[in-house]
Order: sequence, then C-alpha cells, then structure tokens
Amino acid sequence: MIPTRRALLPACLGAAGFGAALLSPPAATAAAPPRGGQVAGWYRFRLGAFECTVVSDGAIALAPPFPTFGGSVATEAEVRAALRRAFLAEDRLPTAINCLVVNTGSQLILLDAGVGAQPVFGPGTGRLVELLLAAGIQPGEVDLVAFTHAHPDHAWGIADAAGNSVFPNARYAMSSTDFDTWTNEALLAQPDPIRGFVQGTRAVLLPRRDRFAMLGVNAEVAPGIRAVPTPGHTPGHVAFHLESEGARLLVLGDIANHHVLALSRPDWPFVFDSDPAQASTTRRRTLDMAATERLQVLGYHFPWPGLGHVEASGQGFAVVPTPWQWG
Ligand SMILES: [Zn+2]
Repeated sequence: MIPTRRALLPACLGAAGFGAALLSPPAATAAAPPRGGQVAGWYRFRLGAFECTVVSDGAIALAPPFPTFGGSVATEAEVRAALRRAFLAEDRLPTAINCLVVNTGSQLILLDAGVGAQPVFGPGTGRLVELLLAAGIQPGEVDLVAFTHAHPDHAWGIADAAGNSVFPNARYAMSSTDFDTWTNEALLAQPDPIRGFVQGTRAVLLPRRDRFAMLGVNAEVAPGIRAVPTPGHTPGHVAFHLESEGARLLVLGDIANHHVLALSRPDWPFVFDSDPAQASTTRRRTLDMAATERLQVLGYHFPWPGLGHVEASGQGFAVVPTPWQWG
C-alpha cells in the first residue's frame, strides 16, 4: 500500500527535526565564508586514438537575448518563451567558451584559442592558459592552433596583453577568406563592433602572418582533422571534422551560438552573423547532417563541456549532452 501524503507528514517533520539538531553547529564554530570560483575547467575524452581535452576560456554573458537572437524574424515574446521552456533566464544568455586540444599522437593541436587578455566580452574570459596548465598542457607544447573563424573570442587568445605569442612554438591555420576579411584595412571605416573586431584582429594576426597556413576548401589540417566550409557566421567559417579509428566528432565553432535558441529555431538570425541568411542555411544543413549521421558535436558556446548529439525536434533541433565519462 502506498502511504498517503497526510500519513507521511508527521514522519517527515520528525526527520527534519532530527536532521536540524544534527546539523546545528557548536556555538564556537564560525560560519564558513562563501568561497566563490569553480573547479578547473578541463574535460578529457578519447576519440579513437586521439586524446582530446576540452579546455574552457571562461564564459561570455550575451544580453539581451532578443534581438541578439531572432532579429527581424522573431518577436521578443517568442525568444523569451523559448528560454522559459528550457528553464533558462529570460534576460541574459550565459555562454561557455569551449576550446579543444587534440593530441593526435604526433601533434598537439588547439582548435580555437579563446578571447585572450582583452576583456572585449566582459570580465569572465581569458582563462585558457590557466586551465591548460591545470590540465597538464604547457602552451609551449602546442604545435598548431587552427581557427574556425577570426572573431575575437576564437582568435585573440594567441596573444598576451603585451602582444607576445601565448603559444611560442605554434603554427596557425585559418581559412584564407576569414584571414583576409578580418584583417581588411578598408573595414576599419565600418562602425563598431566591426571596426573594433578588425582593429584587434589585425594586431593579433598580421605580426604572425608568416606562421599561418591558409586553409582551402576541405583542407586537411592534420591527419584525421579536416576543415569543412560552413560560411555564414563569417565568410570563411569552417567546422572541423575529426575522425580516428572510426570515431568521429564535428567541432561546430559558431555554426550554432546557443544550445536552445540556435537549435530550436535555426532560422533565427544571430546578431554577429555576417550573412544571416547564409548562416541560417548552413546551421540547418549542418545540424541536419549531424542528426542524420548520429555524429557527436562540440559546440564552442554550448553548456560546458559542449559535447553532445543533435536530434530533430519541433521546428529545428535539440542537443542531447554526452554524459560525463571518467578516463
Ligand atoms: Zn564565438
């Protein structure tokens, strides 16, 4: 027989009273102060013969959700409703920054490098080096930094506050389209944020130009890592397709910038998309491919550590997070 709620009530109250007595501190014990902070932000997993480590660069709080997402397509009420359905705050969009280190056995490759020393997206960023070290990875060990695109939160992390190289032994790889677009002097005449993006990107990329390989269409970054053209968010945006011993992973970069808003409505523009219509087409096509092929993805701005699978849902998609695995 299942006891009624009324029957359980006195027993529960009794247990609560017993627990409260146990938890009452001796009079001489001071309350512990709040500690703040968080555990080290790195997560290691295997992909075939590759050892992969997601390393956080911190977090960006985008606000307000509308029209950051939705623009001229959605209403503010629709964006708020989508967030409410997902049990998320309706007035801000905290987003992770998930960089990926891949040890292929012959090279140590970093896919996107975080914001770096300039707090262009607020104070919560710039933690990559600290957390690489926490994961046992020395910046000097990184052989190659490959970028999905040239936006500040992906590319500026290769330089420190003094402009010196954070990864002193690394070479770099980026699509030639994005390198040329975001270092184009003519764009300095554009209003912010474009002007600021270009100014900062020129300062970071141009002094290192001789160490850059320009990625062509479907270029192989390294054995098992291929750059897939996914234009729209930026003109030369690429995703990275990783494959080792039959295990696969698609590193999405900024194809989808929020795990709920961008997935549930791929047609909703994102304010930093260079070509919103093209970005929307790329987003739907790529997510559809990931869902159909049951391909694991890593979202640069998805909730930490950003790994999951994509399923068709409603007018778009939903992400199913990959369970944490030890070892
Ligand atoms: Zn980004």
